[in-house]
Amino acid sequence: MEKDIEELIEKAVKLVLDAQKIVVFTGTGVSTESSTPNTTSSSDLSTTNSNEFAFPTFVGNPTVRRRSWQTWNMFRMIEMVKPNPAHYAIAELDQMGKLDCVITQNVDGLHQKAGVPEDKVIELHGSLKWLKCVNCNRRYSMIEVAKSLGEGADESICSECGGMLKSATVSFGEPPPAKETGEAEQHSRNCDLFMLLGSSLMIYPAANMPIYAIESGAKLVIINVGTASLDQQATVLINRTVGEVLPKIIEGVKGRLTK
Ligand SMILES: [Zn+2]
Repeated sequence: MEKDIEELIEKAVKLVLDAQKIVVFTGTGVSTESSTPNTTSSSDLSTTNSNEFAFPTFVGNPTVRRRSWQTWNMFRMIEMVKPNPAHYAIAELDQMGKLDCVITQNVDGLHQKAGVPEDKVIELHGSLKWLKCVNCNRRYSMIEVAKSLGEGADESICSECGGMLKSATVSFGEPPPAKETGEAEQHSRNCDLFMLLGSSLMIYPAANMPIYAIESGAKLVIINVGTASLDQQATVLINRTVGEVLPKIIEGVKGRLTK
């Protein structure tokens, strides 16, 4: 049953060559290949970690708030994290004029760092780049706030209303952002190729996106280690890491485009 990997890559190359509007969906499997400690835990924090960071607990408990700040101090490291070959390969799709958008479950901003324009990245779980006042929703740059914490502030509050600041990621117990979810659905329904990369899609509404794409007649490429619920419906399914396979696909496409 397991087909030769080169053959699968070749199939994917043909699908990318034929496509005009590609939606790339990325999960933690894309970010974990970036070389930094704790990338997995930080990108997973908003959805899978302990309930102590759940939204209601966070608002009501000063101790948890303080501990969260220590976590956010750690997030300053995110600034130093570099995109990996998978991120750069996705950015190359954009340079070829084939990328419609990236929908991501990751909060690390690495697609933008790799060169995908800001307005082509839909962050379903928010971004570590921003903090938000839980009271008035005003946004603050995470780096600026982290700096003031580094200079000795115990916890930061909103300069407008005195409300608490919280990472602008989607916490366990919070509803998914309606605007981003709606945009992601719209793009998924209008693409001709949906590439599901490094995600097992356990979480709704994210898990609906490839289904919208298939319903609208798009082809589906899955690159992921482990199984996903949609494996049966994939036009091409490659059970390898994204960083290993995607750059080869992009190389194959580039070789063909210049001929
Ligand atoms: Zn405020």
